[in-house]
Amino acid sequence: MNRASSRRDGLPLRRARAQRRGLLLAFAGALVPLLILLGLQYRWLSELEKSSRVARESSLGAYLSSISKDISYFYWKEGQSALALPSQAFAAEDPAAKFCRFFSRAERRFSGARPFFVASFGDDPKVSVHDSVAGKMVPAEEGPETDAILAAVIPWHLRSQSGRTFEEVDVELNDSDPRFRTMVKPVIDEESHLVGLVGFVLDQDYLKNKVLPKAVDEIVGELPDLVVTVWDRNGELILGEEQTSKPARSLYDSVSGWKLTIHSRSATPEQWARANFLFNLTLSAVLALVLLAAIAFALRTASRELHLSEMKNDFVSNVSHELRTPLSSIRVFGEFMRLDRVSDPAKVREYGEYIETESRRLTQLIDNILDFSRIESGGKVYHFEECDLVEVVTEALKTFEIRLRQKGFRLYFDGPEEELPPVAVDPGALAQAICNLIDNAVKYSNGAREIQVAVGRTDGHAEIAVTDHGIGISRDQQKRIFDRFHRVSTGLVHDVKGAGLGLSIVQHIVQAHGGKISVRSELGRGSTFTVHLPFTPSAPVEPSAPEEKS
Ligand code: ADP
Repeated sequence: MNRASSRRDGLPLRRARAQRRGLLLAFAGALVPLLILLGLQYRWLSELEKSSRVARESSLGAYLSSISKDISYFYWKEGQSALALPSQAFAAEDPAAKFCRFFSRAERRFSGARPFFVASFGDDPKVSVHDSVAGKMVPAEEGPETDAILAAVIPWHLRSQSGRTFEEVDVELNDSDPRFRTMVKPVIDEESHLVGLVGFVLDQDYLKNKVLPKAVDEIVGELPDLVVTVWDRNGELILGEEQTSKPARSLYDSVSGWKLTIHSRSATPEQWARANFLFNLTLSAVLALVLLAAIAFALRTASRELHLSEMKNDFVSNVSHELRTPLSSIRVFGEFMRLDRVSDPAKVREYGEYIETESRRLTQLIDNILDFSRIESGGKVYHFEECDLVEVVTEALKTFEIRLRQKGFRLYFDGPEEELPPVAVDPGALAQAICNLIDNAVKYSNGAREIQVAVGRTDGHAEIAVTDHGIGISRDQQKRIFDRFHRVSTGLVHDVKGAGLGLSIVQHIVQAHGGKISVRSELGRGSTFTVHLPFTPSAPVEPSAPEEKS
């Protein structure tokens, strides 16, 4: 490699490295904040996991509170209307008849009471209960139920005896006997004295079978994932099914005194919070990856564009150089002949051959450039005809005869063992492909002046192989030499000029014939390029748009 060329080649290489470094820096610049963001996101999500577990528990607890509130509200509302006994009833001549009429009306509206009772706090205090079968008030009989009624009545009776006045008193629950809970409403007369008390004992069956299921259904009926289970004070199951897992929340209902528990069928609050955490984390990671991929893609495209523009610059300088060399040879030999400097007929023939080979080289180069532009614009057209492949190859080789002889190359041609069937090819295009391969074999021969061209067949394919013993191509470069403008930029190749188009055109031509091209090569030992063409014309492979890889 001479000094000038090493200086020329060093500059773009340095520039390319600097550009690549710039792109890597840009990538790192995007990567670092993204990683920091991901780290922060991880911390926030971990904290969120803890608080969302608590939030989930409280939201489950809120369902239970709503159920309990629904039950309380039901009894409070029903109690309000069922126990709205006017105070005049206590002053009536026949209070029992008044009470009876009132309770029969109340009972018709509200069947959650068992039974209604009334206590009058006058001179002759007494407690009567409503016998719904007989339809009359009867004195309270001894028994646990009456004990519970008395437990609710006595505190109010004591208060009535204190002589103090009362404002309107609301319906209230008395649970001093957990087996017989009562709803009571103190009755205040017009002079604000406590004259009596009306109430009822809560019907537990009604509560269990009507009020509780309705409240549960109203609150969690449309949330099939949530299960509410209810237990009484003795641990007997009231509603729902036996649970093996620990409930998420539990609550004692004030009206019934029962224990309400809730849990989710699909996940405990911990699992729920964990699943949310993992989902959010995965989402963040996926988004970060997509972002990174987009950045990498954008940078890669930028890098490709840089590389492409670099290659185009090289292309212009290489083509100019390639054009200049044959043109100056032609000019010099032409001058010699015009000035009659050569009289020896052998010399005249020799110079004429030089002019011919140089102009052939020029034609080949210009053909390549024109073809490349047609391929790029999609305007390259092929004219297929049935041809004898050996004939096409030998015709192409003839055009190289003088050039090879002048350069001291020996060309060996191996024909097929038996005659090949005709192949549908575009003879001009195929000859151009073979010329490009032989041209490369000459250019990259590195002094090994032997080239073999073989035509043969394997498994339904015709093969044309061009072998040289030149500089060879490394394995990683073998994949890229078919890309447009790509030139191997290491080793001896620096000394050889070229436009980087030859092989990409060969590949396009071969693919348009429904075939393929392969290369076998070893650094320092030479290369074999083989064109495989199908005998039976099949649909040609749509030639891949030439693409350069950076
Ligand atoms: P050009 O020869 O004009 O550079 P090509 O497309 O024909 O462009 O070849 C691309 C690159 O492949 C060449 O620059 C060279 O590095 C490598 N190459 C092609 N043919 C050979 C060969 N026979 N031996 C070694 N290297 C080769």
